[in-house]
Amino acid sequence: MNRKLIAICAFTLTLVFAVWQFAHFNTEAKSCFSFADNAETKVVYLTFDDGPTDRVTPKILDVLDEEDVKATFFIIGRNAERRKYLINREFRSGHTVAVHSYTHRYDEIYRDKQSLLKDIADCNAVIRSVTGKNSNIYRFPGGSFNATPELVDCVVQSGFRYVDWNAGLCDAEIPNATAEMLYRAAVATSEGINHVVMLAHDSTDKINTPAALKMVIKYFKDKGFAFDVFR
Ligand SMILES: [Zn+2]
Repeated sequence: MNRKLIAICAFTLTLVFAVWQFAHFNTEAKSCFSFADNAETKVVYLTFDDGPTDRVTPKILDVLDEEDVKATFFIIGRNAERRKYLINREFRSGHTVAVHSYTHRYDEIYRDKQSLLKDIADCNAVIRSVTGKNSNIYRFPGGSFNATPELVDCVVQSGFRYVDWNAGLCDAEIPNATAEMLYRAAVATSEGINHVVMLAHDSTDKINTPAALKMVIKYFKDKGFAFDVFR
């Protein structure tokens, strides 16, 4: 059963990566970040979506501190409004605090351009209240393939760089996953990739993600990867 779920997750990620590569290689203006210059360098970008939460985010931050690794947090503004101390901790620790959504409600966000830009602006208002400036780094809720090309264009034209992912802990896909299962998913989905954009979540039910993260970081350190953040 677990293997089946990881296989499904791996398949989904392969699909996601295909879309991401398409966006990267075929629409240069839309591409978020170029990795082409140093294709031989092994880099992993740890990214956390849907936080901050009181239950999981502090544990993620503790692991990152212990391992002296920086990450990118794509936050939900509505969660962050009542937990600015966590955004502050992310920022002060040298992590990137980036825009994910204010409401995370797909029906509202993806209704039209105005709704999408308002959602981004509302999220940025929370970020700005802590860091002193807007973020221009964005992750579409569900990934950019959830948005129409017009909406993707609109975000890019508004000065944002968006980033999808090409590997993941599958902590949203595998229910009640143990840390070991999440770790195995991260290893399986990043196999053979030199520039890994690793998706994980610090939402409140992802209780085993911090322990998995510890193993994932050790794995990439052992493989000689550098860690970087989107900036
Ligand atoms: Zn999300």
